[in-house]
This record gives sequence, C-alpha cells and structure tokens, in this order.
Amino acid sequence: QKMNISDMLDEVADRFSFQLRQKAIRVSVRVEEGVPDVWLDRDQIDQVLDNLMSNAIKYTLDGGRIELSAYRRDASTIAISVRDTGIGIPKKDLNHIFDRFYRVDKARSRNMGGTGLGLSIAREIVKAHGGTITLESELNVGTTVTFTLPVPHEGSEPA
Ligand code: ATP
Ligand code: MG
Repeated sequence: QKMNISDMLDEVADRFSFQLRQKAIRVSVRVEEGVPDVWLDRDQIDQVLDNLMSNAIKYTLDGGRIELSAYRRDASTIAISVRDTGIGIPKKDLNHIFDRFYRVDKARSRNMGGTGLGLSIAREIVKAHGGTITLESELNVGTTVTFTLPVPHEGSEPA
C-alpha cells in the first residue's frame, strides 16, 4: 500500500516505547521535507524496521539515543536510516553482518537472545522491494543502518 514514511516511523517508535523507556533511550524521528509517500508491503517493511529498531535497542546502553530518519536520496530513491549510540560492531565483523546466523562475539550476544537472522531477513525484504541496505558502525560509538526504497516517477504510479 502507499505509505506515509513519517507516520510509519512514528509508529515504529510507538511499538517500542516500553523497551525504550525501560532503558531510558531517547528516540527521535526526523523526516526531511519532500519525502514522498511510497508504495510498499507494509508488513514486510515493518518487519525490517522492527528488526533494526530491536537491534538498536539491544545494543545500546541505558541512556543512549536512537534516531529514525528519512530523506530523499535522489530522484528515484528515498533512504531510511536507524542510527544508535550503542556499542558498535568491530571492523572485522562488518563484512559478515548480513550473513545468516552471524552474530558478533558470542560472549556479548549470548545474554541478548536472538538467532542472527534479523539483518539477513531485512536484506532479503529490502532487495525484494528493489532497494539496498548498508550498515556503518564504529566500535563504542554507534551504528547506522540505512536502506533505500525506489519511488515511482511522477505520473506513473499504480492506481
Ligand atoms: P535476531 O535479529 O535474529 O534476533 P541478532 O539481533 O543477533 O538476532 P541480527 O539482527 O542479524 O541478529 O544482527 C547480527 C549481529 O550484528 C548481532 O548479533 C549483533 O552482534 C550485531 N548488530 C546488529 N545490529 C547492531 C547494532 N545496532 N549495534 C551493535 N551491533 C549490532
Ligand atoms: Mg536482530
């Protein structure tokens, strides 16, 4: 369905409000002006956003910050990103992070729960939508995951 990105990001933040409050993590949503509504599979993109949000919360210490943002990248794509001020990911792991079942350093992940599937599923869904997903991270500083979605050209939208 055709979705308003700002509403969608607000709703992600709402879905996690309990966990966010529990860890005293402040969340902000920032959508650049001119980000158009986008045709997407709502359930699937929510699954992507929920995965990224739950990672951001899991790997951010109490009192941290998470920012959800969206901007127009170029004429044919928008970008949506989830940025956290969490523990980050070591450089040597960055190339594997989208692999199925890959989890950084079992010691730090053991008590966090999870299977290591979240990011690989997110990548499949984004790919199926015609977008790309990338992750940038600095150890002990934070992580930003950004995915793109194509926007239809003016006048060529499905009815
Ligand atoms: P699942 O999502 O299946 O519950 P998971 O969260 O461990 O399990 P992924 O979401 O695929 O799996 O993430 C893979 C690994 O990448 C995680 O185990 C974690 O080590 C690291 N990671 C992912 N997101 C972040 C983040 N925002 N900050 C720090 N590390 C992260
Ligand atoms: Mg995960």
